[in-house]
Parts: sequence; C-alpha cells; structure tokens
Amino acid sequence: MRFSRPCWTHAFAISTLILSHLDVAQATWDLNSANSTCTKLVSQLGSALVVQTGPVYMIGVESAWSSFNSIRRPSCIVYPRTSTHVQVAMRAIYRDNVHYAVQSGGHSAMRGWNTVDDGVLIHFRFMKNVSYDAIKDTVTLEPGVRWGEATAALQPFGVTTPGGRLGDIGTGLLLGGGLSYFSPAYGFSADLLKEADVVLVDGRLVTATATNQYSDLFRALKGGANRFGIVTRYEMYAIHTGPPNTTPFYGGLIIYPEAQAEALLNATARYVRDVHDPNAAMLIALTFSNTNGAVVGTHMVTLFYRGTSLPAEVFGDFLRIPNSLNRTSPIDYTQACNLLGPGDDRGHGQLFGASAFSGDVGLYHNAYLQFKNFSTTFKSSLNGTVLAFTPIPESQTAAGRQRGGNAIDAPLRNYAAVQFYNQFVDDLTSVPGPVENGRQLVLSRMPRSPGLPLYINECDSKQNAFSTYGGYDFLKRTYKKYDPTRFNVRFTDGPIGL
Ligand SMILES: Cc1cc2nc3c(=O)[nH]c(=O)nc-3n(C[C@H](O)[C@H](O)[C@H](O)COP(=O)(O)OP(=O)(O)OC[C@H]3O[C@@H](n4cnc5c(N)ncnc54)[C@H](O)[C@@H]3O)c2cc1C
Repeated sequence: MRFSRPCWTHAFAISTLILSHLDVAQATWDLNSANSTCTKLVSQLGSALVVQTGPVYMIGVESAWSSFNSIRRPSCIVYPRTSTHVQVAMRAIYRDNVHYAVQSGGHSAMRGWNTVDDGVLIHFRFMKNVSYDAIKDTVTLEPGVRWGEATAALQPFGVTTPGGRLGDIGTGLLLGGGLSYFSPAYGFSADLLKEADVVLVDGRLVTATATNQYSDLFRALKGGANRFGIVTRYEMYAIHTGPPNTTPFYGGLIIYPEAQAEALLNATARYVRDVHDPNAAMLIALTFSNTNGAVVGTHMVTLFYRGTSLPAEVFGDFLRIPNSLNRTSPIDYTQACNLLGPGDDRGHGQLFGASAFSGDVGLYHNAYLQFKNFSTTFKSSLNGTVLAFTPIPESQTAAGRQRGGNAIDAPLRNYAAVQFYNQFVDDLTSVPGPVENGRQLVLSRMPRSPGLPLYINECDSKQNAFSTYGGYDFLKRTYKKYDPTRFNVRFTDGPIGL
C-alpha cells in the first residue's frame, strides 16, 4: 500500500537511553556475544552466506518494509541456501544466547519483529524456489519467495496457493494465518498447509504434518507467528485457477469520494452480517492522506467472485453507491492479486493495529469516527492512514476446521478483521509520544467484539493477539513443549502472550 502526494494512488529519535550499570553490562555482553557468534558463523558457513558489512549486508537491512525496522543494524546477516545453513545458524545462536530475527518478505509492521540490533538476522532472500507437483497436487515454497513471484511461477500450471492480496508480501504471512481472496472458500492461507520443515530453537530440523508426531507443532504454526521455529519449506495444497489466458473470476477495484463513507460503512456491516457465499471476497479500505496539509479521504473496495459476474445479492450495496471509479471486469488470479498494486514501497515508518467486529453497524461508524479524528489531529506526522475491513465469513472458519484447524480457532460465525494502518512522514525515525498515545487510544476505543480473534499479522506489537485465540491454551502448552527454556521469547521480538 502506498500513499503518495497529492493522493493515495494504491489502496494500499532516537530517545534518550538511560542504562543502569546492570543494563550496560548486559548490553555489552550481548553485543560482544553476537559479534563473536557472527565471526564463528563466517568460519562455519563462509563469507558469501554471512555478511557483517557492505552492499549485500545493506540489501538485507533495507529490505524491511517499515523504516522503523530498516534503521536497525544486525551484527551480521545470514543468507541461508538450505535448511542445514539455518540449523548451523540457529545452533550457534542458541548456544551463545544471542538475539536474533528472521525475515522473509519483510512486510511486518511490528517494530523489531523482522530484524534486530546487535544480533543475528536470518534472511531468506536466496531461498525462493517454487514448484508444483501435479501428482500430489501440491505446491512447495521456500520461505524467501514473495506471493507475486509464486503466483506468476504457478500460473502456467493453472494452479496457485493463496498468500495475501498484494504481490510483494512474503511467506511470513502464513505463520499469522493469511487473508486471501480464496479465504472464504478455503480458510486462512495457512489452512492449505500440508507439511512444513521447521528448524526448532535448538537447531533440530523436523517435518511437521497434520498426522505425524509433530501434529501439535503443525497446528501451532498456523497462527503462532515467529514463536514456534523457523520454517524452511512449506508444502501447500494447490488451488486450481483455470488455464493460462482465461479469466474465471470477476472482480476489480471501486473508488468512492469521502462523502460516501457512511453508505460504505452501512454496506460493510450488512455484508459482514449477511453474506455467506464462499465464492465471494472483499477488502474495504477507507483512507485519509495528508495532501499539502489537508486531510483528504478516498475510500475503496476490491471485489472478487468465482463466477462470471458480481451477484447483486452479494455486492449490490457497494455497486449502488455513487463512485468516482469503477474498474471491474473478468479477471484471472494474478490480476486479482494486483488490484491494489504490489505494495512494495519502502522508506516510511509503518505501523498496524487490529480489531475484530461482528456485523453490528454501530461498531463501524464508531471506528470511522476514531480513525478520522486521529488522522486529522496528527496529520503533521502522517502521510496517511487506512481503516480496512476484511469480511471473514463462517465458511472460512469451517474450511479451516475441515483441514484440521489452526491456532486462531475463530468462532463459527461471520465477522470482520479490522486493520488500523498508519504511514508516517518520510523523515520520522520513531513515533512521537502523543501520536503513539493517540494510536493506542484509537485501538482502545474500537475494541473487538466479544469472542473474536485479532488478526496477528495486522496487530500492534502491544496487542496480545494470542490471548484472543480460541486455541490460546493449546498454543501455550505447545510452546512449552517445543521451547522449554523460552529461548525464542527471550531472544527474539514477536507476539506477546506466551
Ligand atoms: C502492504 C501490505 C499488504 C498486506 N496485505 C495482506 C493481505 O492481503 N493478507 C494478509 O493476510 N496479510 C497482509 N498483510 C500483512 C502480512 O500478512 C504481514 O505483514 C506478514 O507478516 C508479512 O510477511 P512477510 O514475509 O512479508 O514479512 P516478514 O516481516 O519477513 O515476516 C513476518 C514475521 O514472520 C516471521 N517469519 C518470516 N518468515 C519466517 C520463517 N520462515 N520462519 C519463522 N518466522 C518467519 C518474521 O520473523 C516476522 O516476525 C499485508 C501487509 C502489508 C505491509
């Protein structure tokens, strides 16, 4: 997603550090330890795979989508080519007690979740293979591939495996769930996982499936984010998207003026409440961009239907609202994944926050009010803001359960994942205190409806999304089993709650 002046073209300080004597000792120890671990890793893996400086190091640093992450400086970056390389790195990290992080597509908006200061960054930039096995009807992905690359590589076979809705996003999405245009029919993207190779925190490599001795780990990976190990291979069930050069889907983008916000909020609540068609998917994004000091609203929806038209009983409300642009037509899956552009803009601080709503229309109007107030009050710090709704119909949760379930374990009813997204002005290296307070206030004033899970891929790092999962107790038990010393929680940033 990108804001540009004068309008948003696609829907999408360092503070004073006072260390006690103890903290200084600890920080110095961590730094020394990470540097010496890096030196050992260079001798074990070679200087082509482990870099501490130079242009290849900077590519890894700058690939983090949010500049709040790309300002961090790892002691070294390990670029594995195989699972064995990841095992070597993880054994060293575990043995030496050093901080670490993992990065695939780099799109995490959570500060510190995909990179690290004074630690080891494992970066999957060179593990990008994609293959389709027609006999097993499965797709195998290495973790460094982006969804746009995977979709393009699979298109000649007439298949795909769903990731997100923008091409630049990476496979880290699977570990938080994954919302795609196929989700209402097939579940979260992670629900299509058949097996995964995982390097555990101590460096052991295991293959987890729904039925083998690691079936608990397998389920925990589907929503457990970066807490359960490093995945080096995903084998996914394929979805058939039709022969190349055919357009089996109907969909597109519609843009509305700000004056239609109320009608859009009403239509969204109705859609969330009443639409049960697994062939239909939508993303509703209300945006404010800072255009020469004025806060300008532009709202948009993407629509997707497996069929030859957009059924009026599903999308009629949105089609009737007066719009400023309607670009809907027959499309293929690659086009669907490009409706909002690739989402590859970097160089800004970016933060997310999440909620989850039932179909109660008052929730949508209240959230919009909070969002608009925030966007106006803090405009001088912001390029723009988005309030986005992804309807998650009951069929999505049912499809996931049919495939063995995931850690999120949402209740069996329609709801919407709600994303509150902020893009900051170019030169901001940290979020000013009042703006951060404002963000937290917005999130506290649009709380989730009772019983609904927060979508961890779009949450704020202070939100305890795990505790909102139906599978929270299961997740805690499984974490204890696979990481009894709590190494991951102590040495890498990620979701709180375990
Ligand atoms: C522009 C934009 C559009 C988006 N659109 C969608 C969408 O349509 N649908 C959707 O569901 N989400 C969407 N998201 C959210 C997206 O799911 C998350 O940002 C996701 O975490 C990105 O994965 P990544 O590999 O790109 O990021 P990364 O930052 O590389 O990884 C995300 C997290 O996963 C961890 N991780 C990555 N790879 C591994 C691995 N192999 N093993 C263990 N841990 C790993 C990282 O350490 C990090 O904590 C979008 C985000 C952005 C910025």
